[in-house]
Amino acid sequence: MSAVDFRGYQLPVPTYADLAAEYEQILNSLDAATSGEEAIRAVEQWDALRRRFSTWNALAYTRFCQDTQNEQFKRLREYRDELEPKMTDLAVAMKERLVASPHRAALEARFGTQAFALWECDIASFDPAIETDLVEQSKLGATYAALLAGAKFQFHGEELTLSEIKKFEEDPDRDVRHEAARLRWEWFGRNQEQLDEIFDRLVRLRQTMAEKTGFAQFIDFGYQLRRRIDYGRGDVERFRDEVRERVVPLVGEIRAQQAARLGVEPLMAWDEALFDPAGNPRPLGDAEWMVERASEMFAELGGGMDECFAKMRAQHLMDLCAREGKQPGGFCEMLPDLGMPLIFANFNGTMSDVGVFTHEMGHAFQVYSSRAQPLEDYLWPTIEACEILSMGLEFLTWPQMELFFGEGAERFRRMHLAELLTVLPYIVAVDHFQHLVYAEPHCTADDRAAMWQEMERLYLPTLRWGDLAHPASGRRWHAQLHIFDSPFYYIDYGLALTCALQFWKLAATDCGEALARFGQLCRRGGEAPFGELVKSAGLMSPFEAGCLERVVGQARAELNRAV
Ligand code: ZN
Repeated sequence: MSAVDFRGYQLPVPTYADLAAEYEQILNSLDAATSGEEAIRAVEQWDALRRRFSTWNALAYTRFCQDTQNEQFKRLREYRDELEPKMTDLAVAMKERLVASPHRAALEARFGTQAFALWECDIASFDPAIETDLVEQSKLGATYAALLAGAKFQFHGEELTLSEIKKFEEDPDRDVRHEAARLRWEWFGRNQEQLDEIFDRLVRLRQTMAEKTGFAQFIDFGYQLRRRIDYGRGDVERFRDEVRERVVPLVGEIRAQQAARLGVEPLMAWDEALFDPAGNPRPLGDAEWMVERASEMFAELGGGMDECFAKMRAQHLMDLCAREGKQPGGFCEMLPDLGMPLIFANFNGTMSDVGVFTHEMGHAFQVYSSRAQPLEDYLWPTIEACEILSMGLEFLTWPQMELFFGEGAERFRRMHLAELLTVLPYIVAVDHFQHLVYAEPHCTADDRAAMWQEMERLYLPTLRWGDLAHPASGRRWHAQLHIFDSPFYYIDYGLALTCALQFWKLAATDCGEALARFGQLCRRGGEAPFGELVKSAGLMSPFEAGCLERVVGQARAELNRAV
């Protein structure tokens, strides 16, 4: 694996014909295998092919996100969107063969049983009949992304993107906050019809895919897609109920304290992002400066993080600043053939830049640590476990926050904790909403808006939209990428946060032990299902009775300590 400069990194565009021919040759080897050893060699060959394809796939996706208006990148993404389901088709055929292989015992002994459980999910959630629907789904996702990436705002003499205007929603001047929120939501209001239409088409498409695959509804299909092996809808539902019981009242307290501190009554939607009347703490320098500080931070943390980060820096595997045409949000991708991750963000100068950075670096370090796992399936755990590591690193870097915020570090820590807790009810609202939406796939846009309003009543009772007509009409979720792009993903953040908060608690008393367990969990990647990974790190499962209550109690005590 040689070092590259990612800025100019290119790969030959793979063709379906070549890939299919390679697949056929591997399938033939597998069929012809007369021993477990031969079957294992065929799987290894397949794994190398998948890693090569994933590397190209991640590159094509990232290039589009870096510049959604670039015609060449757009065409590349379209090509990728059409190729991907065909690749899934080939992979599922291979998985079907492996699951039924006479050499299964030898394969399980070499690769573990978890791969087979994952492959069974993949088999259940795919049918060649949905190939064109998957292409259509990706196209709708790209339409949504490009629409948001193209949003422009004239504000205080500057032209701003969606990510950039959001920073004014934490301005100490209330009029500025209100104005920024008004402009942002008016943009969504002007695009309401198109956004409702994109989502409607996605919902109907997903229902069709579920039916073609043998499911009555998209919900169960969605759980298979997310490869949820050791828990189900009932567990998730109980978790949502617990959040409503335990966290919603705590958020009420946090909001009341926030209103008192800011001297506003009542606290309005445009006040929620500001936790301190003097302004939220900001990183004391620009992106380049932050990267320097990050190098110091990872040197202090050690455990291989310093090595990973130094390589990412040297290979320019970071695209951090917001700019026009760039897709909003942040993510981490793995380039398996380089053995390196990359991170993508939209820094806008606010404190969340640091949160997004440590979050994505948590993903990056995890996948870097598991790069030697024997199967591509094990590079990442399932997403809820992935997010433990990203949110976990947000907490484990608390002692280093002085590097970024100077004297503002203590305020940052407090706000970080308060903010994450306030997000928890929103997370379950998004999850519950999606269950309602996919239970009634043929309802109207207005029905969906009413469903969302019901969620706000249940989980966000202190939220006041005032004169912001678009979100007040039940359409705040138009701004939530995951609802369009990754159905049922969002609850994963809630499950992971409940685990990450346990790392936070442990780190407060034994930082070394917390870092050691964190590193160990990173290396395990996805070799076990969620519950088992959580247990092996000495954490309590969020589905265990009393877990959320305990975790929230500790967070409440910490927040009250400061008041
Ligand atoms: Zn994440």
